Amino acid sequence: MGKLLQNKLAQYTEPQKAQAAGIYPYFRKIESDQDTEVIIDGRKVLMFGSNAYLGLTNHPKVMEAAIEATKKYGTGCAGSRFLNGTLDIHLELEKRLAEFVGKEDAISFSTGFQVNLGVVSCITGREDYIIWDELDHASIIEGTRLSFSTKLKYKHNDMASLEKRLQQCDPDKVKLIVVDGVFSMEGDVCNLPEIVRLAKKYNANVMVDEAHGIGVMGDHGRGVCNHFGLTKDVDLIMGTFSKSFASLGGFIAGDKSIINYLRHHARSYIFSASCTPASTAAASAALDIMLSEPERLARLWELTHYSLDAFRKLGFEIGHTSTPIIPLYIRNNEKTFQITRDAFEEGVFVNPVVSPAVAPSDTLIRFSLMATHTKEQLDFAIEKLHKVFKQNGLL
Ligand code: PMP
Repeated sequence: MGKLLQNKLAQYTEPQKAQAAGIYPYFRKIESDQDTEVIIDGRKVLMFGSNAYLGLTNHPKVMEAAIEATKKYGTGCAGSRFLNGTLDIHLELEKRLAEFVGKEDAISFSTGFQVNLGVVSCITGREDYIIWDELDHASIIEGTRLSFSTKLKYKHNDMASLEKRLQQCDPDKVKLIVVDGVFSMEGDVCNLPEIVRLAKKYNANVMVDEAHGIGVMGDHGRGVCNHFGLTKDVDLIMGTFSKSFASLGGFIAGDKSIINYLRHHARSYIFSASCTPASTAAASAALDIMLSEPERLARLWELTHYSLDAFRKLGFEIGHTSTPIIPLYIRNNEKTFQITRDAFEEGVFVNPVVSPAVAPSDTLIRFSLMATHTKEQLDFAIEKLHKVFKQNGLL
């Protein structure tokens, strides 16, 4: 390796420091199935870090669908959707997803990250604008970076800040507002009614990332747009299969004309292999379950209200969340690592969220729920977290 790169890498010591202190919290190796209890290093721990909100990752019907699709189609597609990588099950799933979220058409990508990357970068042109919330997901930010448009960031969920940005734009150019429906780390919901009102006032378009909204909010888990009754007012609805759908992949839904444009312009769609048969079939089976077992969604919300209440009563700082994503604010990188580690020792898996994912003053433990958790598991986890937060001088 050349000296220049060697010197640069030598300056990057953060992971080593955390490892030396015994608080490195990443890449913990799961050796079991992935429902509410997992095995790590031979030990049972309760999983409160998953995004599979409906608890479908190990559902027999979802697993069976993946196995059967592999048997029929093979392990991969060895090509992009554009060329040799389109299977009948891709088309069926896209049709069902479009119907599910209430749009005319949809296309699927091999990850949700690729959806945002490909869509956000190609909808608007050189003279246009992308306007985004400062807490939008990294994949949206990467999409804006790849676009030639002017990018304008507004303060998190601050509608006055959004309006100011809209006023800065040339009224005759395209303006795309891109926003997370449910914010992935903070668990709060975007102010979609006001975003839509402003979009109409300034003649802008709206794209909502429903990664954490689908399976969680709205009728049968149709998402935040459905929850607010604003599906028709949103131009593009993005979703991922890696959360409630318990699979891997993602999709974008909208009017036929916009989806047709994306089908022929989104580079991460055209120049990347399509979703595997197994992940496509698993997502489709998960969709079946969302439609046929609404009691899972009801259960998720029962657990959500229970946990929000319990954390608040115990004095945890949980910000503005109202969803199964519960941030426990710590506001210090090292303490966040330490608490993640202490909770793990007590048998509770939670995710640390530190800078640069959030500002250094906003570090947090991300506690997330699945419909398959029991109240006993919740009580256990909340009690242990209370104990370790106290031990670390936070409560
Ligand atoms: N958008 C949001 C809001 C997300 O949280 C994520 C994943 N964390 C993505 C997009 C990317 O999805 P995927 O995991 O399917 O790449």
